[in-house]
Amino acid sequence: MTLQLKFCVHCFERTSVEHKFVTDKVELHGETITYEAERYECTKCGKYTDNDELTDRNYSTIYRKYQENKDMLKAEDFRYVRNEIYQASTRVMAKLIGWSPATISRYENGSLQTKKHDTHFKTYLDPRAMKRAFDNYRDELEEKPKRVLEERLSFLLDTVKSSELLKGLDDRLTLLNIEDRDDESHMTSTESVEKFFIIKGQEFNEEDEDDLRVSPLKLQKLMYFAQGWSHAFTGHDLFEDNFQAWQHGPVIPDLYHRYKSYGSKRIDKDFGVSIHDLGLTSDQLSILHWIWDKYSKFEAKFLENLTHIEYPWRKTRADLADDASCDWVIEKDDIHHFFDSMYRTLKLLQRN
Ligand SMILES: [Zn+2]
Repeated sequence: MTLQLKFCVHCFERTSVEHKFVTDKVELHGETITYEAERYECTKCGKYTDNDELTDRNYSTIYRKYQENKDMLKAEDFRYVRNEIYQASTRVMAKLIGWSPATISRYENGSLQTKKHDTHFKTYLDPRAMKRAFDNYRDELEEKPKRVLEERLSFLLDTVKSSELLKGLDDRLTLLNIEDRDDESHMTSTESVEKFFIIKGQEFNEEDEDDLRVSPLKLQKLMYFAQGWSHAFTGHDLFEDNFQAWQHGPVIPDLYHRYKSYGSKRIDKDFGVSIHDLGLTSDQLSILHWIWDKYSKFEAKFLENLTHIEYPWRKTRADLADDASCDWVIEKDDIHHFFDSMYRTLKLLQRN
C-alpha cells in the first residue's frame, strides 16, 4: 500500500490517500464501457477524492477500452504506423493523408478518433495506398523527406510483393505465433536445418513433383528464408552462418561446397535419420514446416529471382551488375530488418 499526500475535497485539507483501482462503468457514444478506474481514497474520511491527473489517466483508459471494443486503432498504432512503418514526420504524414499535423498528434497522444478518421487512417496501413498518396503529393514535399520516404516505400512494396507471392490462393498469409521470443539459447546448427530440407525434398517422387526437388540452389534459398523468418517469428537467428550475396542469390559458401557435386539435381544423400532426429525444437520444426509449406512449391530459379528483388541481397551488391561475381556478406542486420519489417507490416495489414 502506497500512501501519498493529496488534497481531499471532503476533508478540505491535505490528507494521506491510498491509490486504488476500482471497476467502474461509463457511457461513451452510446456504449457502456467497463474499466478499471484509478482512484485516491482518503484515509481520513474514507471517500474518493477527485483529482485532475487521475481524471486524465482514466479518460485514456476509457478511450483505449472503447477503441478495443470497436476494433479501432490505438494511440500506439498511430505512432507505430507513422514512426516505424513509414518513418515519416508528422508534417509529411499529415500532408499525405490530408489531415492537420495537430490531428495526428492528438491521436498519437491518446485522443479518441472519429469512426470516419479511423477508417481513413486504416487505408494507409497498406503501403500501396500510401504510395498512391505519395505520387499525388510528391511535388509538394521537400527534397530530403521525399527521398527518404520514396526509399522506404520501395522497401515496403517489396515486402508486400513477397508476401503476396507466399499467400498464393489463400485469403491471407498465415503467420506463425511463437511464444517466448527472447530465448537466445535456441539456435541450431546449419547442418540440422539443411538436413531438414533435404529430407523433406526426398519425401516425393522426383518425376511427379519436379518443383519440390531440393537441389543445391533451392536448398540455399530455403535456408535463407528460414533464417530470415526465424528472426521475424522469434527475435533470434536460427543458425550462425552468414550468407554471401552471390550472383544466384544468397549463399552459405560451406553449404555450397558440401553439395555442389549434385549440380541442379535433387540432393539424394541418405542421412539415415528422420526430421525428428535432428535435435530441432518444436518451435524450430514449426518454422521449418512453415517455410517448406510456403516456399517449396516454387522452382529454385523463381526463389532466386525473389531474393534478387528483395532488399538484403540488392543492398549488399549495391551497383554491381546482376551477373558479377561477389563474395560480400549480407549483413545479418539487413536480413533481420527486412524480414522483421515484413512480419510486422503483415501483422498490421491483417488486423483489418
Ligand atoms: Zn477526506
